[in-house]
Amino acid sequence: MTSTSSSPVTETILNFIDGSYRKGSEGKSFPNVNPATGTAIGVVHEASQADVADAVAAAKAALTGPWGKMTTAERVKLIAAVATEIERRADDFLAAEVADTGKPRHVASHIDIPRGAANFRMFADVVSTMPGESFNTSTPDGGQALNYTVRKPKGVVAVVCPWNFPLLLMTWKVGPALACGNTVVVKPSEETPRTAALLGEVMNAVGMPKGVYNVVHGFGPGSAGEFLTSNPDVDAITFTGETGTGQAIMQKAAIGVRDISFELGGKNPAIVFADADLDKAVEGLSRSVFLNTGQVCLGTERVYVERPIFDAFVARMAAAAQGFKPGVTGDRAYLGPLISAEHREKVLGYYRRAVEDGATVVTGGGVPEISGAEAGGFFVEPTLWIDVAHGDTVMREEIFGPCCGIVPFDSEDEVIALANDTVYGLCASIWTENMSRGHRVAAAMDVGVCWVNSWFLRDLRTAFGGSGHSGIGREGGVHSLEFYTEITNICVKL
Ligand code: NAD
Repeated sequence: MTSTSSSPVTETILNFIDGSYRKGSEGKSFPNVNPATGTAIGVVHEASQADVADAVAAAKAALTGPWGKMTTAERVKLIAAVATEIERRADDFLAAEVADTGKPRHVASHIDIPRGAANFRMFADVVSTMPGESFNTSTPDGGQALNYTVRKPKGVVAVVCPWNFPLLLMTWKVGPALACGNTVVVKPSEETPRTAALLGEVMNAVGMPKGVYNVVHGFGPGSAGEFLTSNPDVDAITFTGETGTGQAIMQKAAIGVRDISFELGGKNPAIVFADADLDKAVEGLSRSVFLNTGQVCLGTERVYVERPIFDAFVARMAAAAQGFKPGVTGDRAYLGPLISAEHREKVLGYYRRAVEDGATVVTGGGVPEISGAEAGGFFVEPTLWIDVAHGDTVMREEIFGPCCGIVPFDSEDEVIALANDTVYGLCASIWTENMSRGHRVAAAMDVGVCWVNSWFLRDLRTAFGGSGHSGIGREGGVHSLEFYTEITNICVKL
């Protein structure tokens, strides 16, 4: 792929434009750091404005080449072949994802890589069974007209991605975009460029026409991210990342009135009623708080617990938290590092702020002692707080670390108001054995996704997205078709 040697230490990560790997035309590069050790293990070649323009031009040209002339059946066959090739090269994708993110192998091998393949296969199925709409219309002259729709690709789609589940989140957008016949230019996170680059090899191996899939590396403002989103030949922008970045991208999208799909930040609540199955709630919520070291957009950062079981719940969550040992090798193989030294500083700032604001630290709150190769990694302790007030910074701002505040409540109305009192609206989880309450409270949550007695249970056909500052639009199943296609209604006078 992008490699000048089989050793990851010397790996060179290149842009992928019009079917070929390329350095940046201005000769700029930046280090690729493994967060589990804090050491540079590769060099990423940064795309210049001209390189990004080349990628967009290649994507635009591909729309009218062999790709644009394929039947849906031919196209989805190629998309399904991408899924199979990712599975065949699962070990390579796993190595790339683990090198970039530092996450434990079992997390990447169970979540990131299989979902990367599934995203292509599922959208190939959705598009091949995509229904159309038709209406028989009575006309003023007593005759009839037939209205029916055809869906067409939007064109060149810019895909701007974060670093927490790099392959999974990128393919969640590239899969439907290509299945619908678009072409893409992907800007992976500067922290995690490898799997997007590696996917270029897969595209070439399955015979994807040149220019259909392109990757440009770099940063946001003044770099590949801004060059891409402000390029006028981009027809639509799909973005996952921070709410503030979404606002900046939206301003660029306004130029030329381009469509956007945004999956943004969250401050997700969980509500545990006194009748909850405590085993299920502690198991589910400890995953929800600590999985991927809390770097999950759907992760829980606020837990509301009905007062009679508050102390028992806190004690059991503390025990569960202590079972998440920071580290990625040996017996410390559970809680990987944060993505960067900068992100660790941000999370530790919130750890300090919680205490300054009067929180009691139940467990964690600092940096773990780790020796050996991982001593330089960006680890933090899994952390729980009680005695937090609703208005405290750690209860209002997205932290994106392995931590949460736990707060008692006394009534259903009170907890619904607390859970909904946020600018975000991504997801929530409700824990109760009373199913009529489960349905009632779930429907009252102002979020895009609400789980009852589970978390992160995903069916890729369902609508996914957030309300408020958590996003614009829904993706998943047929909902993705709304964003990745343009509808033409054809009216035929009979
Ligand atoms: P980020 O917003 O910092 O960066 C995301 C991407 O945007 C990166 O590729 C970055 O280079 C690029 N970018 C930054 N500034 C840009 C600009 N001005 N123009 C164009 N591109 C720009 O986000 P992150 O730190 O990589 O990811 C963490 C965030 O992502 C969290 O807020 C998390 O909640 C959110 N997230 C949301 C979902 C979801 O489905 N709602 C999923 C995963 C992550």
